Amino acid sequence: MNDNCIFCKIIGKEIPSTTLYEDEDFCIIMDISPASKGHAILLVKKHVPNIFELDAELASKALVVVSKVAKAMKEELKCDGMNILQNNGEAAGQTVFHLHIHLIPRYKDDQVNITWNPGKYGEGEAAALADAIRKRL
Ligand code: AMP
Ligand code: ZN
Repeated sequence: MNDNCIFCKIIGKEIPSTTLYEDEDFCIIMDISPASKGHAILLVKKHVPNIFELDAELASKALVVVSKVAKAMKEELKCDGMNILQNNGEAAGQTVFHLHIHLIPRYKDDQVNITWNPGKYGEGEAAALADAIRKRL
């Protein structure tokens, strides 16, 4: 629990939220400013700021929960697709520094905008990067 963290306060029920799912490690709440109808966020109950500080056990459990809830959301909302998004650090658009995973239902012709300009690697650049990163695993 971090005293200055809004998501810790939500998890501790000090701040109200609309809970969709809860177990011993996670809760999923409805996002207060939804990108689309049904936008929800999975919160790790433990105060972990970002994926770089997430342990392997919680990481693997999180995806099991996300996939289970995503299926229920798709059935109920009849959405056409879904973005699973997770921002780490200000540069990546993170605004609440308590790890969370967005489940953003997508509807044909909706106004949600998650895009980037496709780049290009030079000759051998992708392989060199992959080799360098792999050495740190
Ligand atoms: P991010 O930009 O990935 O850090 O996303 C933070 C998300 O938390 C945003 O989508 C906000 O709308 C959402 N959010 C912030 N405060 C609350 C709150 N009190 N209840 C529910 N969602 C919240
Ligand atoms: Zn927190």
